[in-house]
Amino acid sequence: MTSDARPGISGLSPDALATWVEASGEPSYRARQIADAVWKDGGITDAAAIRTLPEGFRATVAEAYRFDTVEDSEIRLADDGQTEKALHRLADGALIESVLMHYPARGASRERQTLCISSQAGCAVGCPFCATGELGFGRDLEVAEIVDQARHAQRRLAETGQRLTNVVFMGMGEPLLNLDRVLAAVEALNDPRRFGLGARHITVSTSGVVPGIRRLTALGPQFTLAISLHAARDALRDVLVPLNRRWPVAEVVDAARDHARATGRRITYEATMIGGVNDTDLDAAAMADLLRGDHAHVNLIPMNPVAHTPWSASPMPVIERFAATLRDAGISTTIRRNRGQEVGAACGQLAAERAGEPPMPAVARRRERLEAESAAALRGERSHDPVPVGVGE
Ligand code: SAH
Ligand code: SF4
Repeated sequence: MTSDARPGISGLSPDALATWVEASGEPSYRARQIADAVWKDGGITDAAAIRTLPEGFRATVAEAYRFDTVEDSEIRLADDGQTEKALHRLADGALIESVLMHYPARGASRERQTLCISSQAGCAVGCPFCATGELGFGRDLEVAEIVDQARHAQRRLAETGQRLTNVVFMGMGEPLLNLDRVLAAVEALNDPRRFGLGARHITVSTSGVVPGIRRLTALGPQFTLAISLHAARDALRDVLVPLNRRWPVAEVVDAARDHARATGRRITYEATMIGGVNDTDLDAAAMADLLRGDHAHVNLIPMNPVAHTPWSASPMPVIERFAATLRDAGISTTIRRNRGQEVGAACGQLAAERAGEPPMPAVARRRERLEAESAAALRGERSHDPVPVGVGE
């Protein structure tokens, strides 16, 4: 395992870079030259390649900053090359993932290149159907480590003259529990002088960190908000998204409504469909009641198989029936197919594989607990377990 104390240069704001250049005794236009090298077509990975800088200053820059914080990356292809899964090893050995998905033009919608990025190594929220949740919390990512996932993908795309069109924070981690760094990364991705993606093309997905949603709303630009809803009833959502015990579903939906009002943007709700757990008629009716009349869109996503759970995806006819209940209530709903299943493209699956197998008795206990908890939730009983450690204010 190596470690590198130099900060990533892509995490610097334009002001911070200008201040550093000035403090180094160089003329201010050098900041622009460095920024061009960092951001154009995903940028360079080594300061030595900035030919516009004098050699001495090039060495000073290289000593102070890293030009790539996700350099040790392994790429796996799936879906006939339409999905590229990258496993990034960070300087301290932490593993994170990003997934690049190519969507061909269809009807009125243009071709898209969407990158799903991680905000943390692991996650403290502990949703039991999620491979990252099972890994537990590792650490928050630095701003540069978040942004460099997008630079990495952009460099790969630039080789064939393509551009990244969308970024979604749906990889590992809960973005709104690494709030300051995620907001700085979102600004860097949005800034026309840096990555330059339109705010509407940046989606932040959250399991429901209410103060974080409110800060994102206050930031102003029209970023897209996705809420991982999974269940509309507190008893069930307590089990599927343990954060619900801290911020119950009604508070989450309230904050999402305020975001929709302030930005004019439709909220996307996501529900991972788990057979016999959250796909019942009762749950469809509860979700329809919760979202009726809202400026919202619901994505129903069959659960990706994840080791060590007793669960699997709902059958397609059941998902279709669930969708019909929502549509009957006037809620626009789509059923989304999973991308990259064969390379383990569900959130955190590759990194989980690398983490190795937990001991058998622990796996058996986990399955038993989940079965008991979801059965109680189906009966409408709320869990009395505490909020997970490291979560909440
Ligand atoms: N922590 C944030 C963002 C990362 S998770 C959040 O929960 O919103 C991104 C999405 O992947 C979430 O909607 C999550 O519910 C979904 N997901 C996690 N595990 C999954 C699985 N096994 N199958 C399908 N979707 C899954
Ligand atoms: Fe964390 Fe999101 Fe996975 Fe839940 S679904 S454990 S919030 S990464």
